Amino acid sequence: MRQKVLLDGCVNCKACEMACSLHHVSRFSYQYSSIAVELMDGGVGISFRDPFTCDTCEGEGSFQCVKYCYRAKDALKAFIESQGASKVR
Ligand code: SF4
Ligand code: SF4
Repeated sequence: MRQKVLLDGCVNCKACEMACSLHHVSRFSYQYSSIAVELMDGGVGISFRDPFTCDTCEGEGSFQCVKYCYRAKDALKAFIESQGASKVR
């Protein structure tokens, strides 16, 4: 798994992971999410799963993980843009 970073405001609800799974395979399952959210020292952290599968929600019009994020939209959007979007373009 790639490096975890603290996600400011995240409450570990996993809605982002479910939204990502829905984007990829049209159903809810953690294993199909490009991202993983979990407790870590100091709060809740996020990372991209290996292998890297984030396509920045091509065809959706927006990042679905951010769209359905409960409490940390700004931090999650920044994470996707800085560590995700740069890898698929
Ligand atoms: S932007 Fe990437 S991590 Fe977020 S839902 Fe889309 S594919 Fe998943
Ligand atoms: S949806 Fe937002 S608040 Fe919930 S786990 Fe994902 S990043 Fe954290």
